[in-house]
Amino acid sequence: MNVIVIGAGVIGASAADALAGAGHAVHVLDMRGPGRGASQASAGVLAPFIEAHDGDPWLDLCVESLSLYDAFIEGLRVRSRRPVQYQRSGTFEVAVSPDDVARLNALRAWLAARGVTSEWFDGAAAKAFEPAISAAALGALNIPLHGFVSVPDLVGALTHAASLAGASFESPAEAVSVTSSNASVTVSIGSRSLSADAVVVATGSWSSRVKVNGAPAADIRPIRGQLLHLKWPEDQAMPQRVVWSPRCYTVPWTDGSLLVGATVEDVGFDERSTVSGVHDLMAAAGDVLPAVWRATLHEVRVGLRPAPVGGLPIIGPSPSSPRVILATGHYRNGVLMAPLTAKKVVEAVER
Ligand SMILES: Cc1cc2nc3c(=O)[nH]c(=O)nc-3n(C[C@H](O)[C@H](O)[C@H](O)COP(=O)(O)OP(=O)(O)OC[C@H]3O[C@@H](n4cnc5c(N)ncnc54)[C@H](O)[C@@H]3O)c2cc1C
Repeated sequence: MNVIVIGAGVIGASAADALAGAGHAVHVLDMRGPGRGASQASAGVLAPFIEAHDGDPWLDLCVESLSLYDAFIEGLRVRSRRPVQYQRSGTFEVAVSPDDVARLNALRAWLAARGVTSEWFDGAAAKAFEPAISAAALGALNIPLHGFVSVPDLVGALTHAASLAGASFESPAEAVSVTSSNASVTVSIGSRSLSADAVVVATGSWSSRVKVNGAPAADIRPIRGQLLHLKWPEDQAMPQRVVWSPRCYTVPWTDGSLLVGATVEDVGFDERSTVSGVHDLMAAAGDVLPAVWRATLHEVRVGLRPAPVGGLPIIGPSPSSPRVILATGHYRNGVLMAPLTAKKVVEAVER
């Protein structure tokens, strides 16, 4: 089939790669360029048991997607012939108050009931396990199943693998509307249009702006996130895994970079960084990793997380046409959800 994918963030890129790999003729449009929406700001943390808890409908989706990740990355490395930094080195969630200790011990019991391995470390043991954390930490919960992936590597490899499988990429190209008939579907891009057998709308926070005939605007709104990219001081032990605290999380990279995330701000489509955002993230990181005050500030990344007003991501055919497949609203978990979303998009296109 001929398929147009609108949006080349981590969701559109993974859909394009999966569709091209399945033998479809894929053309990808992006108004900015691959990976330059929310995905460029993402920390790449893969942590369903921190992001979602008991009874949250996100949980099963995120857990299922994480279970696909090893094969997803392995296949991608082979197909793209590119390295993708990916580690399943766990998360270390630090308790800084007695309430945190109680909450994390309840989480540990719940994980055990689900058959998920986790390990509690008391204060001194936590510091021995992860020497970079503050001596004031009361303890920490290690969940070894969790991990992280480099999102620039990931999006680069996905677009390269898709191209090797025959997909074409076009940017800047802003899709304005999508009109479907029984026989085909047409995408308007300024004064011209393109037709295909199916269209995938993977436009993240901008999804409500793409008009799909016969369907209400996608109920997605942008939630800004600021993330710091630091260079860790060379004479200090670098954290070995994702460290999570009540007010921030940090992700260590092999080149000595540390990402510190992230603010959560309801400010519309404003993608600017702010002094208060940097201040709050630095203060939060300094509480849990004191050596962070000696790091250098490399850059501030800003992205708009696509928050679904209905609470869950929208993945599947539009109510107006089976030829229009929606893949949006992944909010805080688009990187984690990429393998499962790509799989569901291919199923929807081939149905
Ligand atoms: C600070 C921060 C940290 C995060 N950390 C994590 C994390 O650790 N783990 C995790 O899983 N998730 C994380 N997220 C969330 C994750 O980044 C998003 O869920 C994910 O990037 C969404 O991907 P997407 O492809 O749907 O959207 P985007 O990456 O925003 O891509 C959408 C693309 O569509 C294009 N587009 C939009 N409209 C049009 C149009 N009309 N025509 C053509 N192109 C169009 C845009 O240019 C853009 O490239 C984080 C987000 C932020 C902001």
